[in-house]
Amino acid sequence: MSATAISLPVPAVPARRAQVRREPLQDIPVPGHKRVLLAAPRGYCAGVDRAVIAVEKALERYGAPVYVRKQIVHNIHVVTELEAKGAIFVEEVDEVPTGAHVVFSAHGVSPAVVNAASDRGLRAIDATCPLVTKVHREAVRFARDDYQILLIGHDGHEEVEGTAGEAPDHVTIVNSPEEADVIEVADPNRVVWLSQTTLSVDETMETVRRLRERFPQLQDPPSDDICYATQNRQVAIKKVAREADLVIVVGSANSSNSVRLVEVALEHGAKAAYRVDYADEVRQEWLDGVETIGVTSGASVPEVLVQEVLADLSGAGYRDVEEVRTAEEDLMFSLPKELRQDSSGRRDARAIGGRSRA
Ligand code: SF4
Repeated sequence: MSATAISLPVPAVPARRAQVRREPLQDIPVPGHKRVLLAAPRGYCAGVDRAVIAVEKALERYGAPVYVRKQIVHNIHVVTELEAKGAIFVEEVDEVPTGAHVVFSAHGVSPAVVNAASDRGLRAIDATCPLVTKVHREAVRFARDDYQILLIGHDGHEEVEGTAGEAPDHVTIVNSPEEADVIEVADPNRVVWLSQTTLSVDETMETVRRLRERFPQLQDPPSDDICYATQNRQVAIKKVAREADLVIVVGSANSSNSVRLVEVALEHGAKAAYRVDYADEVRQEWLDGVETIGVTSGASVPEVLVQEVLADLSGAGYRDVEEVRTAEEDLMFSLPKELRQDSSGRRDARAIGGRSRA
């Protein structure tokens, strides 16, 4: 068995761009009352918060530059801000000078990457989200028990590469419900499914249903692999979408959970839904005849970007903002172990993440 190559396109890394100043949005009358339904939870999750703090903390402690393998989180604004502070983002560890510090991103890395960094004498700081690490451990455990692991996720996504890399001889990637109808397994009595953490819950359950139709002995993961933050943001936008003429999702094109929020909004009643990185990407024509706008953001998006969207919408007459909350979140993760103590051995005051709570 081996990791199967599948043909879904890899989402493009957003290009850096000059700030565009379009004309302010105009306040054009609509038949009814203009309002915004603001989904909550939205924005930063505990894993993203921790990863961003890890890079900031590494810069404070070791000085610039600090290298980061891949985008620390999939948000162009966050990456650009960290670059300005002295982070250098690279694709692979062989681009990092020998002996330098390198941070592994929140999406996780395969053992091959860890070994390559060690071979180069790099000082690695692992900012992999603990909820991704949990899936890695499941993959290792099921591979040890000689299961074929059907990993539901998007081939080419960094998280899927990292998880599959834990047990490449046991993992088969399943990109979609349609693929569940055609994949082959070696022994239908020894199969388990795991998943990427940032998928659509509904689509994943459909994929599992189809797999189970073909392989009734299919084993479930010990606990949900789709993380709490992904699930909570989808539940909130489902509630908002039912009443929304338009949904705006703030998030980058390569952010899996942001892209899923657009899809989920459309599937649950939004008449239109768009994703934007920045407020100035909201187009005047999207607002034609629109009374209710739903707004949310992906798990890697700082709240300031949402507030900029709300400010622009306010200028267009959408001043009535109502929060629609479907869950409280208070999860926090410890910083990566390499950063938990300061140089004198004391526990660092920012050892725990948790700046941004939706
Ligand atoms: S989206 Fe979920 S898995 Fe990804 S970093 Fe956030 S909490 Fe972790």
